Amino acid sequence: MWRLSPLQNGWRVAAGSVAMAAAVGLIGVLDLQGGVQEHLDHLRRAGVPARPVKRATELEGLRGLILPGGESTCLARLLTIFSLKEAIQRAYDDAGLALWGTCAGAILLAKENRGELPFWGLLDITVQRNAFGSQLDSFQREALAPAVAREPLPLTFIRAPKIVRAGVGVRVLLQLDDYIAAAEDDRILVTVFHPELTPSLAFHRYFARKCGLKAGADDATLDPDWTPQSWIRCSPQI
Ligand code: GLN
Repeated sequence: MWRLSPLQNGWRVAAGSVAMAAAVGLIGVLDLQGGVQEHLDHLRRAGVPARPVKRATELEGLRGLILPGGESTCLARLLTIFSLKEAIQRAYDDAGLALWGTCAGAILLAKENRGELPFWGLLDITVQRNAFGSQLDSFQREALAPAVAREPLPLTFIRAPKIVRAGVGVRVLLQLDDYIAAAEDDRILVTVFHPELTPSLAFHRYFARKCGLKAGADDATLDPDWTPQSWIRCSPQI
């Protein structure tokens, strides 16, 4: 299991409780494969109403949809098999749905995927899959994304892609070394790292606001109650 060792060394956790927001509206988390429960747990912590999305009918009424990290090849196949590829594209085109792709989700949204065909191709970026190496080359670091939070954020990269180009109209939210780690246009957000695997709620709040939802105060960026096992409370009871 992926371990969040820097947490044990004490990523700083904001004092005080995390304010629950009186949010109106709903964000969905694509529930086919990957880090679904972790995103649902983070949205719950940020006070944002959320639900898992397994079928097209569950897209109704959503303001935004998170495409979680996992494996983009597997997600692409499942999205096609379950007719969700077209349904999500329609909701984006016709119903104003906002999209946030984390890691594999970002790959699915990219207009260009080096050496492979794009999937949706909705955001004018180029990605390079597995650009840091194998699963064993996964890592964590901190960085400041001023548009998202005032303080440096913990970032978890798991066999991540690099965003190597952003087109006109794409705003870079986080540039690190030789790659872009987070970017957006008006209705699409992409991050190559996993905020849902850290105590930080900043990107979930940021996406909720992008969807026109209220999502708590910026001063409670890190949730002191979060642990790497917190997602278990969102997992289905067997
Ligand atoms: N390496 C995966 C892919 O190419 C993405 C990994 C992830 O989402 N953490 O799809």
